[in-house]
Amino acid sequence: MLEKLESAAPDALLALIKLHAADDRADKIDLGVGVYRTGQGDTPVFAAIKAAERKLVEDQTSKAYLGPEGDMGFVEALMPYVFGAGDPTMHGRIEGMQTTGGTGAVRLAAALARTAGVTKVHLGVPSWPNHAQILADLDLEVAEFDHACADGTANLDAVLAAIAGAGEGEAVLLHGCCHNPTGIDYTPEQWAAIAHGFADGKALPIIDVAYQGLGHGMEEDAAGLRTVLAAVPEALVAYSCDKNFGLYRDRVGAFYVMADEGSRLPAIMSNAAALARANWSMPPDHGAAAVRLILRDDKLTAQWLDELERMRSRMRQVRERLATAGTVGNVDLAPLGEQNGLFSMLPLSKEQIQRLRDDHAIYMAGSGRINVAGLTQGNIDKFVEALGDVAG
Ligand code: PLP
Repeated sequence: MLEKLESAAPDALLALIKLHAADDRADKIDLGVGVYRTGQGDTPVFAAIKAAERKLVEDQTSKAYLGPEGDMGFVEALMPYVFGAGDPTMHGRIEGMQTTGGTGAVRLAAALARTAGVTKVHLGVPSWPNHAQILADLDLEVAEFDHACADGTANLDAVLAAIAGAGEGEAVLLHGCCHNPTGIDYTPEQWAAIAHGFADGKALPIIDVAYQGLGHGMEEDAAGLRTVLAAVPEALVAYSCDKNFGLYRDRVGAFYVMADEGSRLPAIMSNAAALARANWSMPPDHGAAAVRLILRDDKLTAQWLDELERMRSRMRQVRERLATAGTVGNVDLAPLGEQNGLFSMLPLSKEQIQRLRDDHAIYMAGSGRINVAGLTQGNIDKFVEALGDVAG
């Protein structure tokens, strides 16, 4: 049987990481990899996480199975940050469970939507490539719309048309903040229009929040999500703690459902638990337990928020520096100052991207996506100069 399998397409970013590692030019720049980097080029473990992990080693008395919902203390401690401290359950209408990272949360959201009768999902493109892969793997039809306009702002008309055009059995998947790969988020006014669109239409909103706190702040980055949730009867939310707690390989995420009435949640969550059980049985515990310990301890919470703030302000500085460079060759860097999170897209051709790599040791995805955290005080001038060379 297995001889029938043909090679799956290799992951282009993983191939890029290998090429970068093999390059021995001392001034090489990696803008491909999708993790935060400090000004020194490191992706360190948060000090708050280290402290929580030490506590965990001391205090944990058992590693017995928890169940498909994972660490519910973690799931509940996170809710005020995602849904607002006032009433994080929205009158008992929101419940969640832990997942294997944000990927597991997206998978569970899509699978639950399918179980509930969704057959088609509208997706703004470009998007995180795994969105389309997960939807295809679940045999869900994908209807694409343009996420961005050529001037580096969000295409509101396209998303509103997708929402208005979606009928019964259709969902619209949106990024809550720090859109990957464009960095282009909806403005508060645009979120209000989107919320109205959902309220007037039939589409089920699925909102993927993978980078809360990496844009403008924990509250600011949740505002769009909350605007939609306040307007609609039901929604699914996928959440990742892998970026805002730096836990990437520990795979920490959560999936939340908002139902029109709290009384529906037991039936909905029993379906989610059954889907989780059939996929990964139960999520890995360690990272989620560390997040729970942080969120239940005021000092650790303050330390984590401080570390997150430093990440965010470093990325804003890089973005501002790029934006002040203005138009470099035929690339306008000004919109990058308004965009959010780790990623932005540069309108470069394949040849220009190849020349950046060959002539300047600058590695970026073939799509033109750059990770702004790959830029530092030490290499940003070189990057802008190189861009002028290839895009001139
Ligand atoms: N959603 C989006 C938009 C992402 O960019 C990512 C990760 O890159 C994820 C979800 C998944 O995150 P995780 O690493 O927690 O699985």
